[in-house]
This record gives sequence, structure tokens and C-alpha cells, in this order.
Amino acid sequence: MNDFQDLYQEIVMDHNRRPRNFGKLEDATSFANGFNPLCGDEINVYVKLVDDEIADIAFNGDSCAISKSSASMLTDGVKGKKISDAIQIFESFREMITRKPGEDFSSDILGDLEILSGVSQFPARIKCATLPWHTFHTALTENDQSVSTE
Ligand code: ZN
Repeated sequence: MNDFQDLYQEIVMDHNRRPRNFGKLEDATSFANGFNPLCGDEINVYVKLVDDEIADIAFNGDSCAISKSSASMLTDGVKGKKISDAIQIFESFREMITRKPGEDFSSDILGDLEILSGVSQFPARIKCATLPWHTFHTALTENDQSVSTE
């Protein structure tokens, strides 16, 4: 275990224990439901858009620690952002998570979300980490749809 992995475990556990923005947004303007059949993760993402800004965001559902932590960090990371900036964060996140081992990656927009790159040590869990992101992206682009990782 190196320091980065320790930090990864610690942050994931913290977000799993105390998920940020957990619940349902009654006044959501966009919604999507995501399912990862490999692990059984199910997640709902609620977004309240005001003009071109993510005024509020929340999630709920029944998912594993990785998926819940990733959703918690996602909601923290995009709340208050413009839609176009949030989509850039999504794309950068996807690139970080799906890059090949040893491939260089750097981003100046992910900030704390870079800690989730630790999941690439556990390939079976990558879909758990990306599920909330695909669900969020679906809510923004095709409101009221379901998305599956398979
Ligand atoms: Zn999972």
C-alpha cells in the first residue's frame, strides 16, 4: 500500500459513510436512472438546472461503496457549475478512469476527483465508479432515461 492508495481508501470510505447530496430533489428538472448489472448498483441522479447552471444535484439508490462514493464526489464536484463545464469534467473523468495502465494523465479541472483514479487498481470496480457519471451525463443530455453499463 502506498500513500495514494491509503488516501483513496480513506476518502472512499468517508464518502460512503457520509454521502454528500444524498436524497431526492423534489424540484429536479432533469433525472436519470442508472444500473450496473455486474455489481447490482442502482442509482438515481436528480439535477435542478437554472438557465445553464447546475443549481442543485442529488442522488439516491442502492449501490456499493465505490459507486456511492463516486456519486457523492461527483455531486460535490459539479454543483454550481455550468452545464458545459460539468460535461468537460465528465469527459476528463472518463478519460482518467479508462486510460491504460502507465498512460499519462493530467487534468486541471478534476481537482479532488483525481483521487478516484485509484479505482483503476481494481478493474472489476471501474463500472461501479463510472455508473453515477454516465447517469449524470444521461440526465443532462437525455432527460428521464435509464442507462446501463452493459
Ligand atoms: Zn458496485
